[in-house]
Amino acid sequence: MSFPADIFAGQRFAVVGLGRNGLPAARALAAMGAAVTVWDDKPEARAAATGLTVAEPAMDGLDALVLSPGIPHRLPRPHPIAAAAIAAGVPVLSDADLLFTAVRRAGSRARFAGITGTNGKSTTTALLAHMLAMADVPTAAGGNLGTAALALPLLGHDGVYVLEMSSYMLERIAALRFDTAAMLNLSADHLDRHGDMAGYAAAKRAIFDRQTPDDLAVIGIDDAASRAMAAALRAGPAKLVTVSGEGPADIFIDGTVLRDGEGPIADLAAARALPGAHNAQNAAAAAAMALHLGLSRAAIARGMASYPGLPHRQERVGEIAGITFINDSKATNADSAARALGCYDRVIWIAGGMAKEGGIAPLAPYFPRVARAFLIGRDAPVLAATLAAHGVAHEDVGTLEAAVSAATRAAAAGEAPVVLLSPACASWDQFTGFDQRGDRFRALVAGLAKDAA
Ligand code: ADP
Repeated sequence: MSFPADIFAGQRFAVVGLGRNGLPAARALAAMGAAVTVWDDKPEARAAATGLTVAEPAMDGLDALVLSPGIPHRLPRPHPIAAAAIAAGVPVLSDADLLFTAVRRAGSRARFAGITGTNGKSTTTALLAHMLAMADVPTAAGGNLGTAALALPLLGHDGVYVLEMSSYMLERIAALRFDTAAMLNLSADHLDRHGDMAGYAAAKRAIFDRQTPDDLAVIGIDDAASRAMAAALRAGPAKLVTVSGEGPADIFIDGTVLRDGEGPIADLAAARALPGAHNAQNAAAAAAMALHLGLSRAAIARGMASYPGLPHRQERVGEIAGITFINDSKATNADSAARALGCYDRVIWIAGGMAKEGGIAPLAPYFPRVARAFLIGRDAPVLAATLAAHGVAHEDVGTLEAAVSAATRAAAAGEAPVVLLSPACASWDQFTGFDQRGDRFRALVAGLAKDAA
């Protein structure tokens, strides 16, 4: 279903930042009858806004400013247009908030599930959406991941929107109320935008704002900051379910089986795309939300087993002559790479690119699992120094192409059964992004498979 053409008739919006979210948001608002002015500081982005009114927005009579998540309205320094909006009392809103308003104005009681946290948002969003769709619930998923919120279709009363919410989006919601919301975990990230850890936690906590006693709040309690948030939310108003990938909680992992007080929910041994304790946390959160939304335990187990995984997150891209190839290109820092290294006993590891502060030193506990490392990109020498200090066999081979050939030879020689691309580095020195890096890896492995056949 599409939205009626008069939902926002008579209202005026400015959309600033015309990227992956802004442009579809502007077009959707215009299609819903609003008067929309769009702006981007980059001329190329303005040129892409064909058919829309392009101008630096005036604040007079403006109902809201929709600011792209990448543009700050507070810290480190508000964008001048955001500053003008705040001074004029014009609300700064996320497109997800306007989606909620549009759905309710269209008369639909479709429910909303929201997911936030430092890590695991996309996985949990995709997993919940997959489980719902498999159970024939009309589902639309997007937000920070995939489709922009305002580009999602109108769902009827039986529908569920599953929205990945970044902390930036959560700072800009005014009406959106989640029937079920999950906050997975908190570690230091994006502190330039939130001031400090307290500011970051406060932004994440906003996912539970406006919830009622009929709603469900889900919190991962595997880190201290999240545990503190859970303790504060115990007083309500929403029901609280705690989840864990490693210890006791309302929904927890017992060996490979996800359980709650009533018994087993799903055996994650059957869920190939959800390896590791971090994914047990994601699965537990998705299960809590799915139960609240009315899915049966059997439907949840089926959905987890058939969940295909997201590209570039420990994605199995090939199995050639007994060697498994894993694309974990999304691991752009040591913390994410640790999750992947922790899943395999013995690996040939491909890493490198533009290292984050601290490099790969925090990964030392996982080095005994690395049979040999092949390093690529700008900071290969930095990574090599750390590996040398720990006696890990390694070679700087420069490119991903060279790394895949060398890694395949090492694996074929019996050094390890798994070739893992988990770079622990940003990709910008050699690629347009982690997705292009992962796509290249997948294509190289497909080439190997063809040669082998
Ligand atoms: P996000 O959308 O929050 O960036 P993703 O689901 O895309 O998260 O996962 C990105 C990476 O973060 C994964 O490849 C994995 O290494 C790590 N990760 C995923 N889930 C978790 C979790 N619950 N806790 C810690 N790390 C995680």
